[in-house]
Amino acid sequence: MGELLFVNGPVQNGDFTFADRPGKATGIRITAALNHLIGTTPVPHAWNTVTLAGDLRHRQHAATSARPTARADFEVSLIAAKYGDCPPAPGYVTDADPAVARLALEMTEALLRAGKLSLSREQIRSCARCGHMAGTGSHPCKVCGSTVTRAKALGVLIADRVGGRPLLGVDDVHAYRKRAPVHLRNIAGNVPARLVLARTRDHGISLEPLGLPGLVLDPRAGLHIAALSVAVARGADTAVMVLTPNAAANIAAYGQSFLCHDGTRLLYGLHGHIPYEELLSLEGHYGRYRFTPALQQAFETWFLPLYAWHAKNNIAQGELPNLLKHFHRARLTACEAADAQALQRLRNTVIAGGTDWLTNRSGLSAALTARSLSQPGGALS
Ligand SMILES: [Zn+2]
Repeated sequence: MGELLFVNGPVQNGDFTFADRPGKATGIRITAALNHLIGTTPVPHAWNTVTLAGDLRHRQHAATSARPTARADFEVSLIAAKYGDCPPAPGYVTDADPAVARLALEMTEALLRAGKLSLSREQIRSCARCGHMAGTGSHPCKVCGSTVTRAKALGVLIADRVGGRPLLGVDDVHAYRKRAPVHLRNIAGNVPARLVLARTRDHGISLEPLGLPGLVLDPRAGLHIAALSVAVARGADTAVMVLTPNAAANIAAYGQSFLCHDGTRLLYGLHGHIPYEELLSLEGHYGRYRFTPALQQAFETWFLPLYAWHAKNNIAQGELPNLLKHFHRARLTACEAADAQALQRLRNTVIAGGTDWLTNRSGLSAALTARSLSQPGGALS
């Protein structure tokens, strides 16, 4: 088996900070922890910048600034601000980066040649005032607020659903082999048989080279390609894109055609939510276990994300004290000396998608040993 690496499902570059919304970093933290456990060098953090909200924010910026920043630089400056003085060492990748766009066009052209995607003139409903593609349903235009739409023939990129293939197959999901993601299939299956993969956006992967000026690749497809591009750049065989089941269900239909390229494969890796807003309830427990700030941080930003990876579903507030006790006991048995065999076993388990090691003391203890070896000063005491 070739190299496998984990990539976070691109985080929407919205108006938030990691301090306000720590849950936004969960995918990034899981990815960093798992890549470290399997001995892979850190991968860039992935960001989703091709959003309508981003278009509107940039238009506002351009209208009110004497020297407006170009959109790509504007997005990067907003991402950089989220990290403050601690930018990620491996950098970041956005879903509109030139390398991602190149890969997207290469994949799209190959899929067109193979007849798996097509270019077609379709009756597309757009806003009568500003031309924004309206999508389904009757709601005011999300750009200008106009309620008048009109259908007109427009050249677009089309994916026809492959008959008989579930949109989100168990084989597409890493570490989910025991429990078929039925509810995911139901959500992801609720999409039309003909998918339009083009959107009106100011920013993104332009489809002009395919003869579709003014349109970009649907960002839900682009997110898959952004994650895949990280593995392609590394020459890895498999990228596991780490995201919540809901996020996966929302984008799976659009990514169906983009799950492999030239022997590199993209899998979904699912995780649940962490009740960060409830962590204050643990204050007394931290004191009782004599946790240092470093230990508390290891529990909140390393163990809990990994546990959310194991649980797949959301972690309930009521589980937190027991999880803390489990973490506490495992760290007491973690040692400074590495057991090379135990670490290798753990590495193989993680690569194969196993997560049960997080629930037993010896498995978690081995992972904590691996973690502390790379942390000068040791986070265990
Ligand atoms: Zn409009």
